[in-house]
Amino acid sequence: MNDSILPQPVQQVIDDLGRLPGIGPKTAARLTFHLLRQSKARTQQLSRALLELKEKVIFCENCFNISETPVCHICSSPKRDHSLICVVSEPLDALAIEKTREFKGVYHVLNGEMSPIDGIGPDQLKVKELENRLKDQTIKIKELILATNPTTEGETTALYLAKLAEPYRVKVTRLAHGIPIGGDIEYADEVTLMSALAHRTAFTA
Ligand SMILES: [Zn+2]
Repeated sequence: MNDSILPQPVQQVIDDLGRLPGIGPKTAARLTFHLLRQSKARTQQLSRALLELKEKVIFCENCFNISETPVCHICSSPKRDHSLICVVSEPLDALAIEKTREFKGVYHVLNGEMSPIDGIGPDQLKVKELENRLKDQTIKIKELILATNPTTEGETTALYLAKLAEPYRVKVTRLAHGIPIGGDIEYADEVTLMSALAHRTAFTA
């Protein structure tokens, strides 16, 4: 039942947009009225783009980064060093590191960070899949770069992964240098990220 004073289609879009991260009810309402005012063609273009996002973009079955093919272009590239894995929380973090053009290894996207308060543990993330990559003897992993965010969640995740990697005799390093504590890798500038990669340090749990 629609108990809103707004027409149901308007309320529906406000509710749907309001479920997106970082968008409160006020922003959701403002965006909805903006959509109402813009041309029909533009709204159709947006709805097509949203559908294509779900239909054409998948997650790489190896690294879980976003991809248009079952194995992404980075995982399938012979030019990349497949013994060097940079572990990130989100696809946007991998994108930020790609933009520096300094990193020649491959990625592993966790799809989040551990947060016991929110009930997010290793089982909710692509941790088992990372361990499988460490176990796999066809590509011997030499180094894991833990590039989770310098936040409580990111540190908790990095510590967990360092412990997990111990039996596999792999070098574990951490991106820390230059990225402010509590900062977000996604928003770090390219120079800071390049320096963070170049000055990565050994990391143990
Ligand atoms: Zn991949």
